[in-house]
Amino acid sequence: YCPADQKLYMDLVFFNELHNRFGAKKGDFAMAYVTAHEIGHHVQTLMGTSQKVRQAQQRMSKVDANKLSVALELQADFYAGLWAYYNKEYLEEGDIEEALSAANAVGDDTLQRKVQGSVNPDSFTHGTSQQRKDWFLRGYRTGDMSQHDTFSELKI
Ligand SMILES: [Zn+2]
Repeated sequence: YCPADQKLYMDLVFFNELHNRFGAKKGDFAMAYVTAHEIGHHVQTLMGTSQKVRQAQQRMSKVDANKLSVALELQADFYAGLWAYYNKEYLEEGDIEEALSAANAVGDDTLQRKVQGSVNPDSFTHGTSQQRKDWFLRGYRTGDMSQHDTFSELKI
């Protein structure tokens, strides 16, 4: 998602990976989760959250700035879950598991372990696999917009 022009750009290589990983039928909701997460960033832009975070990040250490980034990303996962909640009638069996599997695959700890063989929590910018699944599920299970405050829950 690009806040400057408020447009969504999709990496087709990444979508192909999801497609290959989950299969043609099973990949569709993994893609829906990724898309909904990016639309979540659009919501954050409209609500002013992204701008507030960027301003605050300029006045803090890299480690603290990363924590704010994690809260912003987990909130986008929460919004993706909310979106799924309000579109339950369109979901197929196994869709939520697909979303969770995709969220698991893009957790910082999982990615770092895969790429560099070790994990450095201070450098996390998107949250752990567990956090990403948890926040998606919280949105999906509650459908409650008022629970979107990842910032105070992560004590930032
Ligand atoms: Zn994101």
